[in-house]
Amino acid sequence: MAYKITDECIGCGACAGECPVSAISEADGKYVIDAATCIDCGACAGACPVAAPVAE
Ligand code: SF4
Ligand code: SF4
Repeated sequence: MAYKITDECIGCGACAGECPVSAISEADGKYVIDAATCIDCGACAGACPVAAPVAE
């Protein structure tokens, strides 16, 4: 299981700093989660102003 960032992402970057395993990176103005690195903690979802990270 991993989290995924939907198209709702506005590219603010708040989630990246909250991820304990540095699984989130910027790509073309939005942010993406490396599913192989994500440990499913949910911290990114809590940090996001638009609820873009969702559990798959
Ligand atoms: Fe990082 Fe946790 Fe979000 Fe996965 S769920 S991307 S480990 S903050
Ligand atoms: Fe996108 Fe939310 Fe992360 Fe900001 S906190 S970069 S809006 S997913």
